[in-house]
Amino acid sequence: SIQARTKLANGVEMPFFGLGVYQADEGKEVVDAVKVALKAGYRSIDTASFYKNEEGVGQAIRESNVPREELFVTTKVWNDEQGYDETLAAFERSRKRLGLDVIDLYLIHWPMKGKYLDTWRALETLYKEEKVRAIGVSNFNVHHLEAVMEISNINPMVDQVEFHPFLTQAPLREFCRQHEIQVEAWRPLTKGVIFTHPVVQSLAQSYGKTPAQIVLRWNLQHRVVTIPKSVRAERIRENADIFDFQLCEEDMGKLDALNENRRLGQDPDSFSR
Ligand code: NAD
Repeated sequence: SIQARTKLANGVEMPFFGLGVYQADEGKEVVDAVKVALKAGYRSIDTASFYKNEEGVGQAIRESNVPREELFVTTKVWNDEQGYDETLAAFERSRKRLGLDVIDLYLIHWPMKGKYLDTWRALETLYKEEKVRAIGVSNFNVHHLEAVMEISNINPMVDQVEFHPFLTQAPLREFCRQHEIQVEAWRPLTKGVIFTHPVVQSLAQSYGKTPAQIVLRWNLQHRVVTIPKSVRAERIRENADIFDFQLCEEDMGKLDALNENRRLGQDPDSFSR
């Protein structure tokens, strides 16, 4: 169901499915999108300090009558907020904007060279102080994860990375499986680039589902947490309607075979900003 959850390494349960709000405008756009999603049964929202819409996410949560304990809210520390003290301060700003006492999942947005280990130490502090229920990273390759695991006795519980059939991340997923790190997909829909691919088109035809639904279902069957973004009510509902069918193994394989290690976003080893 839409409320299906994965158990993180510390036992906290995180929904497999949620709403991403990157590029949803602060104000009415993000507030309405989150409200529609919560009404449609979404329980997980993925925002970030960088998205400049945490206040709207918080407002929508308050105005919806969903019990706080059912919700799973993720936010992230941005690149120019990294470092130990800076991250503790950035967290307080995010928490205040969201209007929440406790954040469910706090992530390092990108592995800033020379900073991300100190940033991780700050996340550990927040976790020990019970200001966050789980901590993790985003855009970390295996060597970044290893560096964190070397200096810390708390492993990242989640790694949120670009993931779709053009970039299937098999080695990273295997590493994460071995270390109980839950993989989460960003840009799961390739912002629509993949919708016209003939393989996706033909699967959509044969299952009577939309291309978006086919690709999101493929995420779930890989046990990858997924957070497609839309601010349109009908698409928010469409993206969630993926719990009434199953891709057979052969069709999963057809989507896996589209891998070309092709990134649409930045590379964690060479990103700028
Ligand atoms: P996405 O793959 O989710 O694509 C979203 C876009 O696809 C929408 O803006 C819309 O144009 C289109 N779309 C969505 N549903 C559709 C449908 N049913 N039919 C037709 N078109 C549809 O891309 P994204 O927003 O980049 O990624 C999802 C979320 O992941 C973000 O909102 C954000 O929360 C997160 N994210 C994180 C990082 C990171 O560095 N950690 C980077 C990018 C995104």
